[in-house]
Amino acid sequence: MDPSTLEAMKAALRCPVIGPQDAEYSRARTVYNAMIDKRPAAVVGCADAADAAAAVDFIRDNGLELAVRGGGHSGPGLCLVEDGVTVDLSAMRRIEVDPVARTARADGGCRLRELDHATHEFGLATPGGIVSTTGIGGLTLGGGHGYLNRTYGLTVDNLLGADVVLADGSFVSVSETDHPDLFWALRGGGGNFGVVTSFTYRLHPVDTLGFVITLWPVDGTREVLAWYRDFLPRAPEDVYAYFALFVVPPVPPFPEELHGQRMCGIVGCHTAEPDRVEAAFTSVREPGPPTFHFTAALPYPAVQSMLDPIIPAGYQWYWRGDFFDRIPDAALDVHLRYGEHIPTPLSLMHLYPVDGAAHRVAPDDTAWSHRDAVWSAVFAGVDPDPANAGTIRQWCVDYWQEMHPHSMGGSYVNFMGEDEGRDRVRNTYGDHYDRLARVKRTYDPDNLFRANQNIEPARN
Ligand code: FAD
Repeated sequence: MDPSTLEAMKAALRCPVIGPQDAEYSRARTVYNAMIDKRPAAVVGCADAADAAAAVDFIRDNGLELAVRGGGHSGPGLCLVEDGVTVDLSAMRRIEVDPVARTARADGGCRLRELDHATHEFGLATPGGIVSTTGIGGLTLGGGHGYLNRTYGLTVDNLLGADVVLADGSFVSVSETDHPDLFWALRGGGGNFGVVTSFTYRLHPVDTLGFVITLWPVDGTREVLAWYRDFLPRAPEDVYAYFALFVVPPVPPFPEELHGQRMCGIVGCHTAEPDRVEAAFTSVREPGPPTFHFTAALPYPAVQSMLDPIIPAGYQWYWRGDFFDRIPDAALDVHLRYGEHIPTPLSLMHLYPVDGAAHRVAPDDTAWSHRDAVWSAVFAGVDPDPANAGTIRQWCVDYWQEMHPHSMGGSYVNFMGEDEGRDRVRNTYGDHYDRLARVKRTYDPDNLFRANQNIEPARN
């Protein structure tokens, strides 16, 4: 961008516009994943929807590239575009909870930790992800899965409405009754349709969870995963557990002798009755005596923020995802092999359940495209040291390639890399792609919002 355009933007917008010469530039272009090193021409720090609308107008009228920043957690750093302008919502974190109606309205720059904190005060919560530093923006627009989704559905299943600044700078409030086509598309179509300045969620009575972690040495992966693939889909909807291959971090509640060991296991909860967690997971001993078994009644925000200190911002991340509706025997062997060779202490594979209540929503009710999936898998390479970036990436790609033939063919939009190709993006939106493309044509015909897993506007 030429300097005069930057000066004109600073003059035109009332909110802070940070350019490469400004002291805050380095902070403004830093995202969660330290592998991302994009240099935007400017970052616009919005305080409200009016700022976002003015920024969109300026960017569009000057033919600039636009990106939107919610929590800055996207793996491929989609909230930044090289030489483009980021509409940064991270200062917008107001939340209003209505404990009587059991709803919460949260600004588009909130992170899960702020939303959980605000709703927990009233003994309420809405389903989110499992790391509380994640932005609600990208997470919600992509679908959103975590501890509560077998009981209460995905995040999108609990979205009641949203306020959106569109590509033409206009502002709309959407819901089942207002702009229902756009409301449908926002629930799984990613950041393709506008700047969402606030989300309104349905809340549920969630206070204390019965939390469980059970681990075995990684060489038991075949037996443990074979038990888990039968146990999980049959478990009641208030029982949740993801399967994990990981290296035990040096933090409580893990005993010192397990620190640094490659393990397999489950991390889960009983959402309704904390006291029932032991009973719900009685069969966990079937694959063989676990090396570590921990249960506790924990406040929901404590469960949500448990992983935060282990994976602070600033590490190298590379990930890929896939959906699965079954785990055949051949896949057990692949998981064992890659589990035995986890390349760095923070790299991992998780199989997140997306069944239960999420399966009771009809496939076409939201844009989330894989209602028949039982698991959303993430293969994630993580390490603080940039020198290991190639190693963790290769482990993920190789692992993903061997598992992909067992998958359903599309990925969770929020677990995609930027290097997976157009076919993969299409498969990810699945049967909904054409309908999404028509909504895109209505609300963003020139594809201004394209810094995402992009849906191109339908041509006719
Ligand atoms: P950003 O990088 O700010 O944005 C990501 C994309 O969403 C961009 O395309 C951006 O333009 C768009 N966007 C963001 N906010 C808005 C908005 N308000 N309006 C319009 N567009 C917007 N996902 C889960 O479902 N469950 C999990 O448990 C989970 N755990 C995770 C743990 C970690 C450590 C990380 C790094 C990610 C995790 N994710 C999880 C994935 C997460 O959902 C995505 O990374 C998501 O994109 C993050 O959203 P964000 O707003 O922080 O990201």
